[in-house]
Amino acid sequence: MAYDTDNVFAQILEGKMPAHKVFENEHTFAFMDIMPVSVGHTLIIPKAEAENIFDLENEPGSEVFKTTKKIAHAIQASLKPTGLILTQLNGTDAGQTVFHYHMHIIPVYEKMPLRMHGKEVEDSDALAKTAKTIEQAVKDMDSG
Ligand code: 5GP
Repeated sequence: MAYDTDNVFAQILEGKMPAHKVFENEHTFAFMDIMPVSVGHTLIIPKAEAENIFDLENEPGSEVFKTTKKIAHAIQASLKPTGLILTQLNGTDAGQTVFHYHMHIIPVYEKMPLRMHGKEVEDSDALAKTAKTIEQAVKDMDSG
């Protein structure tokens, strides 16, 4: 399947759709998942067009991983989860629903079950608050 330039994450990158941003650099963009499975569920995407792992070039792939590590550390420092899951789905049969490559960072908290994937839209104020917390933790890390 050819990359669909109209997919929702492409629209977020172009500023045509709103998103709760936590971090951005030349190559990547990190923002809150609108239907989080846990508090702090964050998505990291390359700015380069790629639908999945198979058409993602090495360089943007490395940049996504670098940003993923940065945000994982910021989440760990600020939200204090007791565990953290990274997932990345490729293809409809794997459960991929948005066809712009993305890495999920899913914090896990003791005795707090994960919600269903992509089912319940979170309150915008709650997402904004969590995004601010993570964004500040990134700034603190970068300045410290
Ligand atoms: P996938 O199933 O493709 O791995 O994950 C896509 C993710 O994108 C889901 O977790 C879903 O909640 C999230 N998502 C879908 N539409 C939007 C949107 O418009 N904005 C944001 N921030 N996340 C979205």
